[in-house]
Amino acid sequence: MDRGRRLGKYSVGVGDRFAHQAKAQLQACIEARENGVDIEPVWNKSNREHLIIGSEPSSVRQAADAAVKALGWKKPYYCDADHITAETVGRYFGACDFFTMDVAEFIGQAAPAAEIERFVERHGELKGRIELPNADGAIEITSEKLRETAHKFLAAVKRAGVVYRAIEKAKGAGAFISEVSMDETDRAQSPAELLIILAAIADEGIPVETIAPKFSGRFNKGVDYMGDAGQFEREMALDVAAIALAVRQYGLPENLKLSIHSGSDKFSIYPAIHATMKRFDAGVHLKTAGTTWLEELIGLAEAGGDGLALAKEVYAEAVAHREELCAPYAAVIDIDAAKLPSAAEVRSWSSEQYTSALRHVEGAAAYNPSLRQLLHVGFKIAAKMGRRYLDLLEANEAVIAKNVTENLYRRHIAPVFPGANGDAVTERRAQEWLPTEKA
Ligand SMILES: [Zn+2]
Repeated sequence: MDRGRRLGKYSVGVGDRFAHQAKAQLQACIEARENGVDIEPVWNKSNREHLIIGSEPSSVRQAADAAVKALGWKKPYYCDADHITAETVGRYFGACDFFTMDVAEFIGQAAPAAEIERFVERHGELKGRIELPNADGAIEITSEKLRETAHKFLAAVKRAGVVYRAIEKAKGAGAFISEVSMDETDRAQSPAELLIILAAIADEGIPVETIAPKFSGRFNKGVDYMGDAGQFEREMALDVAAIALAVRQYGLPENLKLSIHSGSDKFSIYPAIHATMKRFDAGVHLKTAGTTWLEELIGLAEAGGDGLALAKEVYAEAVAHREELCAPYAAVIDIDAAKLPSAAEVRSWSSEQYTSALRHVEGAAAYNPSLRQLLHVGFKIAAKMGRRYLDLLEANEAVIAKNVTENLYRRHIAPVFPGANGDAVTERRAQEWLPTEKA
């Protein structure tokens, strides 16, 4: 599986719903580079987001290209057609060079029995006890388990093959990065299942560079991980070891790595991710997605005046349309309606009250995860405001950019990527950055 471009060891997926923060996001990668760590930025936007906002994939490309040019970034960068399917991929051929093929809806749909049997016969090497170097554990796969896993995932992997070949036909082999995602489903995949899935992906001839499984625990939008961080770490170690084995055994690309989705704000597992990357010298793609939009709101609130007024208006609308906004994200949010302040109460808030309720500082007295999740899914309201919202973003660019860069670098990149040197950077930048850990 020879190919041209290769995704680097460390990469960060950044979402930019309104295509106004690419420079501020790129600035976070420049900070990392100044600290000696190369992290490739990937601007991702899902088909679902494009539809909600009414934007075109080319707008992501234009914003990324403009930021790269303005800041003189000479390293690789990508635009990710995030969570696309065979039906939706066509729109992204021109603008994107990274494709996240979402086949979660095919999990559990049975492939033809003959194909399952062929797969089980072909992969006798997967049966038995597979020792995974360095992972303090082994993977045990019985014939039963192998057949059952093939039954559950083969149709999904075959579907990824269909999507991959459509992209390959349009763009040419080696001209894009392939990711396979199975995270938006209800049950986590075990390391054994991941290994079997990778064998099937290799059979399909997909030069997969990032794979997004669903991990155990709850990955809600924009708020911290809920689950057992110790178990996450053991599972991630086995996943990383399984990937290394699959690379050797099936000739998958050597840079194949985990893609951690809904990566935004999973602060309690960042130390586990960091430790596992160091232990295995492994890469990771950290998809942080939509919290940039929340930094826009924080910046507007902080700016006061019209900015604060608009931030309050967004909240009032979000409360009024809570059910409709939450419906598409039901599987990935947990809002406690009793904890949501009324629109009237928020209308009386100062900049400080608004930003400290919204800004994700775990343990801060004023931080309100329910409010944060509601606003997280409330971007449709700002989208409807159109020019009025964008004009305010532009008028308050400096204060917003500072929040965007700080959030991405200090809360995501520095704690996750080995060598990004979170502590030293936090010290050095503390003076320039806004006070965040106030409470
Ligand atoms: Zn995802």
